[in-house]
Amino acid sequence: GDRCIIVGAGHAGSQAAVSLRQEGYAGDIVLINDETDLPYHKPPLSKSYLKSPDSGGLVLRPEAVYRDNAIELMLGARVEKIRLDDRRLVLADGQELDWTHLILATGARARIPDLPGVDLDGVVTLRNMDDARRIREMMPEVLNVVIVGGGFIGMEMAHSCLAMRKVTTLIEAGPRVLARSVAPMVSAHVEKRSRAAGIDIFTGVQLAVIEGEGGRVKAVATADGRKFEADMVVLGIGAVPNVELAAEAGLLVDNGVVVDGHMRSSAPHVYAIGDCVSYDHHQVGRRVRLESVQNATDQAKHVARSILGRSDAYAEVAWFWSDQGDMKLQTAGLSLDANHCVVSGNPEENAFSVFHFQGARLVAVDSINKPSDHMIARRLLAAGLSPSEADIAAGQQHLKQLAS
Ligand code: FAD
Repeated sequence: GDRCIIVGAGHAGSQAAVSLRQEGYAGDIVLINDETDLPYHKPPLSKSYLKSPDSGGLVLRPEAVYRDNAIELMLGARVEKIRLDDRRLVLADGQELDWTHLILATGARARIPDLPGVDLDGVVTLRNMDDARRIREMMPEVLNVVIVGGGFIGMEMAHSCLAMRKVTTLIEAGPRVLARSVAPMVSAHVEKRSRAAGIDIFTGVQLAVIEGEGGRVKAVATADGRKFEADMVVLGIGAVPNVELAAEAGLLVDNGVVVDGHMRSSAPHVYAIGDCVSYDHHQVGRRVRLESVQNATDQAKHVARSILGRSDAYAEVAWFWSDQGDMKLQTAGLSLDANHCVVSGNPEENAFSVFHFQGARLVAVDSINKPSDHMIARRLLAAGLSPSEADIAAGQQHLKQLAS
């Protein structure tokens, strides 16, 4: 009979397995992951988990859900090779499995800079539960933390370290934090508020070398000649997609496994979803690779429908959240091509939204502590509705009506 094998059991893989059953897939479903934990929520790892560890509370679904849905969960198993000609895959222990459908949900891994000192003890990255456990174990011995990179994970880690009373420094090579994802005024707000809370943030500053003593990290030196003491260095300079399996099998790869609107790779019966894929995005009309729970989860639901023969193309609104100290940041849409914006609310009150437009078309909304703006934005974007400046000025009730 049919067998669908899913490689990787993060947000994407775990959801795909369950969705396949919900959509009526009658064949075998095998979900393989090289980690040994039951599939878990990743976002808390840089937020609440480090401060109040409770890994049990992080599971995406209890084990019974996999059992009840006849999903065979293979944990601690690594896929080494996929073969297209005879539709088999090879595990690290030599075992071979047949598949009729294959879903790659291999995610992404931390980017490691090619610099002296990255191998020292105390230099860490944060991508998975093992990383978080290691960091948590080190924390009692740590006073000075230097975070390299002002993206979401770096900024969240900085706030978590601060909450644990660490002396926290963050260096960012670019001119502002969160530059890839939010409006300049949101970056400015986050920087200002994070500094006021006690995080030392340096922008436009490049890491030069990580210095150690006896194999342990000691300090961080920057290209402009600064030096920061460090008992822990967190590298948060982005992620690279895990595409080696796909590339070796000959699938088309371009900053991620290339998929179409049905999550199909360039090879028949092979699909890919989540952080490891790049695809032509319906909103921006060009190839993107997104890293978010929304993207992973919605693509997982979509691939299940796709395998069962539904033919609509993926067209979900992208959205994302991040918690940093007393700021809940939420983004709906993609602001890549925005050319002007309208602000609603008051940054002084730590509650405002930035509506991004490309011409007259709404393309994204960044919100800080404005969850209802975020929900309205998602509805507007899904419906393809663009409010005018006057609509935004008229306030939330008005926008809500417009969106419904
Ligand atoms: P992953 O979650 O990376 O899962 C892929 C899995 O596949 C991994 O377990 C990997 O080990 C396994 N794997 C890879 N290769 C193989 C192989 N050959 N054999 C077997 N197994 C393999 N997103 C948000 O929207 N909001 C947030 O607040 C947020 N916070 C985050 C905080 C942190 C610390 C991190 C790391 C990410 C955060 N994200 C957040 C991003 C979000 O977690 C990811 O976008 C999401 O996890 C992607 O899911 P995925 O299933 O595609 O990949």
